[in-house]
Amino acid sequence: MTDKIQDPDPRMPYQLPFPKDAQEEIVIPAAIPEDERIWVPQAENVWFRPLCLNRSQGYWMNLLRVRRAGVLSRHRHPQGVHGWVLKGRWHYLEHDWEATEGSYVYEPPGETHTLVVPDGVDEMITYFQVNGVMCYVDPYGKVLGYEDVFTKIDLCRAHYGSVGLGEDYVERFIR
Ligand code: FE
Repeated sequence: MTDKIQDPDPRMPYQLPFPKDAQEEIVIPAAIPEDERIWVPQAENVWFRPLCLNRSQGYWMNLLRVRRAGVLSRHRHPQGVHGWVLKGRWHYLEHDWEATEGSYVYEPPGETHTLVVPDGVDEMITYFQVNGVMCYVDPYGKVLGYEDVFTKIDLCRAHYGSVGLGEDYVERFIR
């Protein structure tokens, strides 16, 4: 182990300015929103709530909400995904495990899966970090479409414009 220099004042805040090119932080007190309009519809019974739409690194952090009969269509991830289940439970048609409230899930690159909510669960909410792109595919892997941070931003803009929050509402989530 290398020697560590003693910090003379552990509770003294950092005294220098942050790098002038650093971006602004994002703080969202009600991550699960009170205002229903903040949920962006993406399919029947499927919504997402943006938290950080990171266009400079090509990933997005969002809450995914799926109710009852909702299905998050079959898709492939070329990059890893991290998830944390905040409410309810769900599973993938391609795996025999279930993600229950409080679970953490890592989806490695190369995963192709279809997310469904079981009978008896009204609603699930999961915090997902998605990197790069989601490729929507048929059961044999043929690509049918895709989403990336830019299509997410476009969806938010259109939705927030249509519900009266204003297209610019999405700007607070973009970095
Ligand atoms: Fe996925």
